[in-house]
Amino acid sequence: MHPSIAIIGSGPAGFYAVEALAKARPDAHLDVFDRLPTPYGLVRSGVAPDHQGTKNVWRVFQRTAHRPSVRFLGNVEMGRDVSLAELRSLYDAVVLAIGAPADRALGIPGEHLRGVVGSGEITGWYNGHPDHAGKAPPLDGAQVAIIGNGNVAVDIARVLGRTPQEMVKTDLPAYASEHIARAPLTDVYMIGRRGPGEASFTPVELRELGEMARTVALVDPAQLPDALVAGDPKEQMLKDKLLGILRGYAQNDPTSKPVRLHILFYAAPLEVLGDGEKVTGLRLARTKVENGRATTTGETFELPVSTVVTAVGYHVRPIEGVAMPTGATAYPNDGGQIADGLWAVGWAKRGPSGVIATNRQDSIDVVERLLKTLPETSRGDARARLDALLAGRGVQVVPFSGWETIEREENTRAVDGAPRVKLTDWRALLDTAAARGTGAEG
Ligand SMILES: Cc1cc2nc3c(=O)[nH]c(=O)nc-3n(C[C@H](O)[C@H](O)[C@H](O)COP(=O)(O)OP(=O)(O)OC[C@H]3O[C@@H](n4cnc5c(N)ncnc54)[C@H](O)[C@@H]3O)c2cc1C
Repeated sequence: MHPSIAIIGSGPAGFYAVEALAKARPDAHLDVFDRLPTPYGLVRSGVAPDHQGTKNVWRVFQRTAHRPSVRFLGNVEMGRDVSLAELRSLYDAVVLAIGAPADRALGIPGEHLRGVVGSGEITGWYNGHPDHAGKAPPLDGAQVAIIGNGNVAVDIARVLGRTPQEMVKTDLPAYASEHIARAPLTDVYMIGRRGPGEASFTPVELRELGEMARTVALVDPAQLPDALVAGDPKEQMLKDKLLGILRGYAQNDPTSKPVRLHILFYAAPLEVLGDGEKVTGLRLARTKVENGRATTTGETFELPVSTVVTAVGYHVRPIEGVAMPTGATAYPNDGGQIADGLWAVGWAKRGPSGVIATNRQDSIDVVERLLKTLPETSRGDARARLDALLAGRGVQVVPFSGWETIEREENTRAVDGAPRVKLTDWRALLDTAAARGTGAEG
């Protein structure tokens, strides 16, 4: 009897795990579930639309999806359509590859006000994720704060800072392009608690902030040290590059372009200010950094922003049947193992750290351990029993061929060098997928 393994989540970690499983156990039935009718996780709905080169990794995952032992079941949500307990009773092993999709909160007063937007929401919105497509961030004021000093904050600053013309050859949805172009933006602040030495953005991403047509990147030269010191030569090279780029921004003329992007260091948000309903400003504390930690200096200042985007990290969502200590960013696991026959990979295992490629070796390592624990005899034909269960519940399973119908439709709609025009509405996605065959085949 074939062993059957369920992989929940079709992002990078899920697909890298499937590829490793398929190679090691060509006899195994590998069922890849996703709550969306579309595969590829944050490659489709997180990575910025103007980074198509990065998104192209989907081609690797597509090859995996076409392996004969692999089956994609889109539009099937664990916890809604099928429970984790049911999956564990059907399959010989279950791998959670469901990412860490919840925005980490700032934990300061005023965070509930309209105009405070999590990075997951805004990046999902500008990437056409069907849960976020209808939820345009309020961009009705001239000033926006982005809290965070990582590549996600940089992505958001760039997508807001660019012109529609600069985004033509991307898959930024028209609704997002128009909304951003209509926004009366003059000043965007990208704010970090610590200094340039602790920032986690990388030189390639930081450099792109200096290449925007309507937005000029600025840094206060007083916030830049003479040198940034790193522990090893490779790290030192990156730090030197970062500092060089920031020095260039410190010399930019603030009046040279209509929008200014202020890269602010040593500032910790204290309170989102509002009129009871909507954001009217942000109060911050100046900080200093000692031994890598930020402490406040006692000095405060305010920015008259009307939108606050938080890009300070993510955490996993609680799921029934998995214990979660408070404040945990990942599901507790030991080398990927959560419990007998239950595993985690990717951001579900490690929390929100690492780039797409980081997930590859990580998934390979977990699969190696998983295979050692796989029972000698399988529980039986999980596929037939799962299909009967989903059919009994009236779930419209989107197979890989259904996704490929969506993909063809998106590609057909593309104009002006754009790679695709995304379908961003649940109904449109499901109807298009159903246009050529449903069922769980493929
Ligand atoms: C905004 C943003 C931009 C990024 N940009 C880059 C970049 O430019 N380059 C780079 O290398 N890395 C980038 N990363 C990091 C990269 O995206 C992650 O390393 C990677 O996506 C993590 O993979 P994952 O498979 O663990 O999770 P995810 O990619 O989040 O995939 C999880 C999948 O699980 C599905 N799922 C969730 N819950 C359920 C459920 N209950 N039932 C069924 N399915 C479910 C989701 O729909 C999703 O498809 C970015 C991350 C973010 C947040």
